[in-house]
Amino acid sequence: AKKHGSDLEIARAAHLRPIRDVAARLDVPEEALYPFGHHIGKIEDWYLQQIEDRPDGKLILVTAITPTPAGEGKTTMTIGLGDGLNRIGARTAMCIREPSLGPCFGMKGGAAGGGYAQVVPMETINLHFTGDFHAITAAHNLLAAMLDNHMHWGNAQDIDPRRVAWRRVLDMNDRALRRMVIGLGGPTEGVPREDGFDITVASEVMAIFCLAKNFDDLHERLGAMVIGYRRDKSPVYARDIEAPGAMSVLLQQAFNPNLVQTLENNPAFVHGGPFANIAHGCNTVRATRAALKLSDYVVTEAGFGADLGAEKFFDIKCRKAGLNPSAAVVVATVRALKMHGGVDKADLGKPNVEAVRAGAVNLGRHIENLRKFGVPLVVGINRFGTDTEEELQAVVDYCAAQGVEAYVCTHWADGSAGSEAIAARVRELADGETTSRFAPLYSEELSVEDKIRKIASELYRAGDVVLSDAARAEIRRLTKLGYGNLPVCMAKTQYSFSSDPALRGAPEGHTLEVREVRLSAGAGFIVVVCGSIMTMPGLPKVPAANAMYVNENGQIENLS
Ligand code: ADP
Ligand code: MG
Repeated sequence: AKKHGSDLEIARAAHLRPIRDVAARLDVPEEALYPFGHHIGKIEDWYLQQIEDRPDGKLILVTAITPTPAGEGKTTMTIGLGDGLNRIGARTAMCIREPSLGPCFGMKGGAAGGGYAQVVPMETINLHFTGDFHAITAAHNLLAAMLDNHMHWGNAQDIDPRRVAWRRVLDMNDRALRRMVIGLGGPTEGVPREDGFDITVASEVMAIFCLAKNFDDLHERLGAMVIGYRRDKSPVYARDIEAPGAMSVLLQQAFNPNLVQTLENNPAFVHGGPFANIAHGCNTVRATRAALKLSDYVVTEAGFGADLGAEKFFDIKCRKAGLNPSAAVVVATVRALKMHGGVDKADLGKPNVEAVRAGAVNLGRHIENLRKFGVPLVVGINRFGTDTEEELQAVVDYCAAQGVEAYVCTHWADGSAGSEAIAARVRELADGETTSRFAPLYSEELSVEDKIRKIASELYRAGDVVLSDAARAEIRRLTKLGYGNLPVCMAKTQYSFSSDPALRGAPEGHTLEVREVRLSAGAGFIVVVCGSIMTMPGLPKVPAANAMYVNENGQIENLS
């Protein structure tokens, strides 16, 4: 077996092409590329408008089974499959999210793929990149500053300081900022009120950035955000305090999609990065649409397992952006299936074919669920070094019994040579004009509660849905305000079909408890919070940050 370096070592050894050469592969003219150094570029807005009427390529979704905390390799598969498609002669671009600094310095690490399936320059992409997240942070906080300033200078909108619905954001894991009191110190220091910080990827501005079709739509949606309520409980919108213009100014350049390359020099768009719980967890509609105009196939990823990620990709992103996905790949790992089969985290590296077979019900449930969206699918088994042939075969056999093809993929170790087989099949599925009959799971006309019940019963297989009094009251209020026709954005643990992270496998008949409901009027969805959801994560006891430094050669160490 080949000896592998770390993701960072592999990325460092890459032979990068000038970004204009990568853009040229997509026939993007040089004047439409705004370069950030030699290996990163943004595609100009005028050019995106120019290509708007071109036909779309085929859209392929990468999703996954219920993961372990380490992640099962969706990003890695997205890149590996895209490289595999290019290898067999299919003009393919990839679309993924931009990494957030929080997880990068916390526990999960970077989000630029892994092994021999990565996007590069890895360090820049994982760190400040083209500054998009900083721009989003600034736009979000500008609105917060304008709101507090509005209250300070007479509060013409009569915003109730106890009903402000706009917090501040920072792209960092910092639990100490979750709750605070601001404006202390007397009449010259603002209006005292409770406030707090969320992580930037949880900002509604991020969700809007990712769902807006064009600049006008961005501006419109920013204005439609509810930032608080008056004493009479009527909503105050961002446009009421004249904030969206200046926010758009801050976002203008960030809003153009970023183009980078994979280790194999294939084009990849990395743009936007909303949370997958209180938001929909996909890269920007702008990048996806650009990629569809510029290449024949586009591979993209949706965050979390398919119960959350794929559902929101289909029911929110595809529905709202008018996208028509042609195929889906479900990533499974032997390790995660063993976990679903009852094996403890410490023993996931030990061969246990019985546990793989027992845990395969989790994969089976995701397969059944995905079929409800009418998109043809295959299973991609992301092979780890500890997997045995017998274990891998058990997954392939299980899938065959479900009528689904499964491919053992080794792109992490071998690059595109390890994903050729799945790529060939995915191309066939995507090309089969009649096979994809994509349709969202629910109609937007259903009541908010019925939408929740439909997802809970059909995808989570909950026996019952229990709404808290607060959730019920909020649904009534939002419906009265005219928001009842928005899709719902489920915020639930990614570690189980249920709202209990400890419930593995394919649980049935559990009760889904809806604790809270929040309106994201600008993003255009209603967030349904089941269980506890963190919008400002904390760092672990020993964060990844502790080991990072710049070495004597000016190279970054231990950014994984
Ligand atoms: P996801 O997108 O599903 O969260 P990623 O693709 O980001 O998962 O992968 C999570 C981590 O697992 C990365 O650090 C990646 O390098 C590692 N990884 C992925 N596939 C493999 C594999 N086959 N063998 C070893 N490590 C892997
Ligand atoms: Mg990922």
